[in-house]
Amino acid sequence: MKDHSQYDVVVIGAGPSGSAVARDIAAHGFNVLLVEEHQQVGLPTHCAGLITPRTLELADLRADGFVQNELTGAIIHSHSGLEASIEGDRVHALAIDRGRFDAALAERAIESGARLLLHTRASGFERRDGLIRVHLKNERRHETVETRLLVGADGARSGVAQWAGLPGPDEVVYGVNARVHLDQRASHLVEVFLCRDLAPAWFGWIIPLGDGQARLGIGTTQGSAARCLKKLVAAFPSRFQNLKILEVSGGVIPLGLPERIHTDNLMLVGDAACQVKPTSGGGVYTGLLGARSCAQTAVRALEEDDLSAESLGRYHASWIEDMGEELQTGALLRKIFMRLGDGDFDTLLSLLRKQPLARILSRYGDIDHPSHLVTPLARMLPNLRVLLSMAALVTDREELVDDVFAPVSSSR
Ligand SMILES: Cc1cc2nc3c(=O)[nH]c(=O)nc-3n(C[C@H](O)[C@H](O)[C@H](O)COP(=O)(O)OP(=O)(O)OC[C@H]3O[C@@H](n4cnc5c(N)ncnc54)[C@H](O)[C@@H]3O)c2cc1C
Repeated sequence: MKDHSQYDVVVIGAGPSGSAVARDIAAHGFNVLLVEEHQQVGLPTHCAGLITPRTLELADLRADGFVQNELTGAIIHSHSGLEASIEGDRVHALAIDRGRFDAALAERAIESGARLLLHTRASGFERRDGLIRVHLKNERRHETVETRLLVGADGARSGVAQWAGLPGPDEVVYGVNARVHLDQRASHLVEVFLCRDLAPAWFGWIIPLGDGQARLGIGTTQGSAARCLKKLVAAFPSRFQNLKILEVSGGVIPLGLPERIHTDNLMLVGDAACQVKPTSGGGVYTGLLGARSCAQTAVRALEEDDLSAESLGRYHASWIEDMGEELQTGALLRKIFMRLGDGDFDTLLSLLRKQPLARILSRYGDIDHPSHLVTPLARMLPNLRVLLSMAALVTDREELVDDVFAPVSSSR
């Protein structure tokens, strides 16, 4: 007689990545348990909620109910007060209500047949007879469930990754995000603040939501993000003169491209696997892409009854095929960004104020695939190649520069 509930798959974490994996595996008739430590899916949220329309398609959700604003471009500020606007001619990004978005995805997982266990925390696991025993606890009791496959979708500070001995991020960015009342500059433009000492190694943002509300946030690799936010507000007094903070939350952005995101009977997905864009910290799109590969591999491995690391390795291979080069180019762009100072940001903004560059950004800019911008920019700014080459030397990734510039050279 079995003394534990048994599942084909247990997914830890009902963020977008975990719910998408649970939905797609359950849709194939497998017995899936989705475990979430909070009382409600999607809350509290730490996210600025900026995604591309492409992400909604990938999530297979209709926009109803959670799209709050459509954004076509950006205003970029530097510390010296210089600014440049990039007015796009199409919707580049959507501001979404992340709580509702996550709830809608979890709802789809339930509709597909997954069981959702709320207010329950996974506290560890052990291996027995080719299966994984996951320890769960809630306010009332401790429980152990048995599974053929464990999916760690438990976010940037993944316990599953640690318990499995899988590598964590190379670098983390501490972020803070506030819902605020703020005078509106332009309802369809995101504002970005590039200030080396106010947002060390990252940037600040305002995402307009309409009705005088916005999301205001900042990231940093050093010290307290909340302190950085206060300094940002103080440094731009006229922009923030009528600021009223309604709600603040914080979180961690994990960066890196771990060599292993799976082992026997176990896979990591989303932030737990560092599936995050190094240029923006956005992880909803990349997490959903990871979830798609993860679920496809899981279904095949369950059907073949082979949950070995070798069989699950197809997941890593397909994730790298989808996003490996993009993330490596993103890491290179981040290296360049880290080398720029406030004077360089001023130079960049002066260039952006000249129409051709702004036009290229508007035309090719894609927050999911910043690499699409590199080739047209390199045509226009030959110095960019020098910068990229320097960064490639620093990162030991010289071949990447050739990959990026091959199309430029061949078209000359
Ligand atoms: C300040 C900030 C702003 C951001 N802004 C954006 C943005 O604008 N656009 C964008 O695309 N991305 C943004 N991100 C990143 C984005 O939030 C993440 O990449 C995304 O949430 C990852 O989804 P996920 O499903 O992998 O993990 P998460 O959304 O973190 O979900 C993990 C879930 O696991 C649960 N969990 C954790 N441990 C356990 C456990 N032991 N037992 C049970 N449950 C557990 C958590 O409660 C959580 O619900 C931002 C991040 C930060 C910090």
